[in-house]
Amino acid sequence: MSAPAIGGVQVARGNGATIRLPRGASLSDFADRIGANPASLVQIMLHLGEMVTATQSVNEETLQLLGAELDYDIQVVSPEEEDRELLEAFDIEFGEDEGDEADLAARPPVVTVMGHVDHGKTKLLDAIRKTNVVAREAGGITQHIGAYQVSTTHEGEERKVTFIDTPGHEAFTAMRARGAKSTDIAVLVVAADDGVKPQTIEALNHAQAAEVPVVVAVNKVDKEGADPNKVRAQLTEYGLVAEEYGGSTLFVDISAKNGTGIENLLEAILLTADAELDLRANPSMGAQGIAIEAHLDKGRGPVATVLVQRGTLRVGDSIVCGEAFGRVRAMLDDTGEAVEEATPSYPVRVMGLTAVPGAGDNFIVVTDDRMARQIAEQRAARKRSADMAKSSRRRTLEELFSDLEKGRVDELKLIIKGDVSGSVEALEDALLKIDVGDEVRLRVLHRAVGAITEYDVNLAVADDNAVIIGFNVRPEPRARDLAEREGVDIRYYSVIYQAIEEIEAALKGMLKPEFEEVQMGTAEVREVFKVPKIGNVAGALVRSGLIVRNSKARVIRDGVVIADNLTVSSLRRFKDDATEVREGFECGIGVGYNDIRLDDVIETFEMREKPRV
Ligand code: GDP
Repeated sequence: MSAPAIGGVQVARGNGATIRLPRGASLSDFADRIGANPASLVQIMLHLGEMVTATQSVNEETLQLLGAELDYDIQVVSPEEEDRELLEAFDIEFGEDEGDEADLAARPPVVTVMGHVDHGKTKLLDAIRKTNVVAREAGGITQHIGAYQVSTTHEGEERKVTFIDTPGHEAFTAMRARGAKSTDIAVLVVAADDGVKPQTIEALNHAQAAEVPVVVAVNKVDKEGADPNKVRAQLTEYGLVAEEYGGSTLFVDISAKNGTGIENLLEAILLTADAELDLRANPSMGAQGIAIEAHLDKGRGPVATVLVQRGTLRVGDSIVCGEAFGRVRAMLDDTGEAVEEATPSYPVRVMGLTAVPGAGDNFIVVTDDRMARQIAEQRAARKRSADMAKSSRRRTLEELFSDLEKGRVDELKLIIKGDVSGSVEALEDALLKIDVGDEVRLRVLHRAVGAITEYDVNLAVADDNAVIIGFNVRPEPRARDLAEREGVDIRYYSVIYQAIEEIEAALKGMLKPEFEEVQMGTAEVREVFKVPKIGNVAGALVRSGLIVRNSKARVIRDGVVIADNLTVSSLRRFKDDATEVREGFECGIGVGYNDIRLDDVIETFEMREKPRV
């Protein structure tokens, strides 16, 4: 192979050879695959104008750039493929029934209800649940767990149908986007008095893209002005032709409000399932399926509703679910009854996981706890490096400053959020008055009062180098996650001149790396206690990270900082003093601030020296 020098470095060229790299790979990983020295790849990247270290995760564009330069065909492996490979290493195949035809048994269809807002999805799910004779006989109070199962008599046979109880196509598409196939049949709800609407079509598109058969529930037929036939006519344009019009789609007129037509709808679902689908699974293997929803319960710890897709899930099984793992301590069905086992298409709440999995995460029963832990840990490690690669795409304020200095960018874009409109305006005015000559400009993309929202973060993402300034405000939890994932820089200030100084220094390219605030943990106030001599103490649940005694703290109410410069002066677990309390645990926190209220958030942080860029 010829080896021309690139930037004075000799590296063998690939001549179009393919190499597969996981998302978030580093130059070292790249070098490994092609038997090169990582340092020479670092030099080549430098020559191409990007400074990356050998072990740092890089984004896909960087890998592709390097690949093109060295004549390699780079295939960045998707997270789904990567996960499949990870499981293969443990000799696990997710999504396949073991054995042959003879091992398969019929399973109930799993149904998602979709449709335009206000067309009656929630009402329909309630109405269907009310027909659940089984639950009523058991005397159980049905609970919302994200899915439920009902029975009906179909052609003289007792049949079951499982409904995913999170209406809307958001959940459906979110799960599908993650490669989780959760649904066999979609019920498209269309209000007969309103007809086909944009979200009706959107929902239909999603169902069709997922190749999921559709049953149309024409709802609100009790209403005056309802025109069920118009709905049928409208939907023919979108390829859904009613049976009575010579097509193959079943349309059922219902009134979710009055509970009429529900049995017919269940019948139509089963007819469609029997005609179009082969719903069978092997019930006698280690269970597999997906998590539908999950939360952290006060007393029980992480609780996940899972849908068994194949196999039988039993109390005592070792399972791994996304990045969570554990042993099934107990299972409850949708009536709150404890169950010992769950067969295919059966939704159950599972207790015993170490962490809260995400909706759409797959779960797998494995041979022992050790394997469960290993898989979960490897997934977590991969996610971290993928996240790091993602965040390396965007620049932090420090990097931006150095770019400004080098004349690579000439504009600093800001998004300003503050606690009151006065301070937002004052800050904006002051910032715009900073005079640093003509070379650099400062532009405020958006300013508003209130917590930092997902909108703000998305705006910063869309505008590549925008930085968000939070003046006495904090991000909403989802916005914080998004910012972390996307690598958006959020700067917090509580004093105007501090903000001005820092931005001015930045614009002048003089910013010295200094101390940075690192969030350590957050806790939600659940109760307030009066303690003699100490004052009010919060009974709180640690929501994230760690609450550490003596760390710095502030109190946030509705996304706004209401007290700052506090210290965690007392920390208790039950009656005992504690030095630290972890995520998911309850504790008593005293921060020397008396006006603490229910639902306030206590945020703790420490100051760490920032590395120089
Ligand atoms: P979603 O947004 O699709 O979940 O819709 P909802 O289930 O919240 O229903 C929206 C509104 O329509 C509510 O006020 C319901 O009471 C009403 N509604 C739902 N189904 C019917 C029905 O069959 N007949 C009538 N008259 N009203 C209904």
